[in-house]
Amino acid sequence: MRSGKYGFMLQARSITKSYGLLDALRGVDLSVDAGQIVALLGRNGAGKTTLISIIAGLLKADGGTVEVNGLDASGHPDEVARLLGVAPQETGVYRVLTVRENLEFFADLAGVPKKKRTTQAEEVAEQLGLSELLSRKGSELSGGETRRLHTACALVHRPRLLLLDEPTVGADVATRQQLIESVRGLAADGAAVVYTTHYLPEVEALEADIVIIHQGEILDRGTQAELIERHHRGGLWFTVEGELPSGVLSGLEVLHQRPDGDDREQFLVGGDIRMVELVERFGSQAAQLVSVERNLPDLDRVFMAVTGESADGDGVEPVEQAAR
Ligand code: ATP
Repeated sequence: MRSGKYGFMLQARSITKSYGLLDALRGVDLSVDAGQIVALLGRNGAGKTTLISIIAGLLKADGGTVEVNGLDASGHPDEVARLLGVAPQETGVYRVLTVRENLEFFADLAGVPKKKRTTQAEEVAEQLGLSELLSRKGSELSGGETRRLHTACALVHRPRLLLLDEPTVGADVATRQQLIESVRGLAADGAAVVYTTHYLPEVEALEADIVIIHQGEILDRGTQAELIERHHRGGLWFTVEGELPSGVLSGLEVLHQRPDGDDREQFLVGGDIRMVELVERFGSQAAQLVSVERNLPDLDRVFMAVTGESADGDGVEPVEQAAR
């Protein structure tokens, strides 16, 4: 991983946060370099918003430190705030102000000098496809347009570190693509980006460094290719109806096992076994083999291998717990 003149643009160390008895963050380290996009990937409740809020200075951690561009955030809150662009999950734009007024207001708030505000507002509006809407009021925007304006307000002062918490929630395909393109463009211009999501196609489109966060802990980090290389075990998924014929699993490594409806069970077996070999193992009971598919190297399966759960779907019991 690269680090610049002052080290990483963001370096969070040993961050802890509890809400009552719940440990929302259990000693999280996160570093992001200039020009790097880090996707914080985790299910609902994993701790993404809590972490982003702490880095943004909106929430106090119980322990740990945050440095932005080499500055300790708790000792230099104003300087750090000027380096940050934050788009929280809930959209917050002024409905009575026009798009231009919103952008200029947020630019002013972030300390952009008056004579630069118009240019920067127009530039960010162009980037996010809002140029035609500059004189439209916040109250007259669609959900997707509001979402884009919300993100644009976080970008208008050209932050060095951008924190985006699920920026595409409720956005249509076109808005989603526009946001992703903008984020990639900003990173190419040198911004460090932290982007939270549990939507896997987005992580792929961002070509981000992926940080898997689960129950308040970071379990792994790497590019999609690195994570697949590290965790993909090959093998086959198959579904059996009724009782599994004896001998089918003999000599195979069972990676996952889960019920699939009332009378069905799904298995993932690792290794080089071919589909035809599996069918042969069922012999005369082949009709019980409802489906079989190759375990493809995709991000959801990597996420499942790391956390034991799907990023946006069913929980999967690791086989040690599921075995009877
Ligand atoms: P999502 O994808 O749903 O936004 P997340 O990964 O951002 O989830 P957080 O919002 O950080 O998760 O929540 C982490 C955990 O802390 C969850 O179990 C949540 O219920 C809990 N939590 C968050 N905020 C509070 C709060 N103000 N009071 C009590 N518990 C909270």
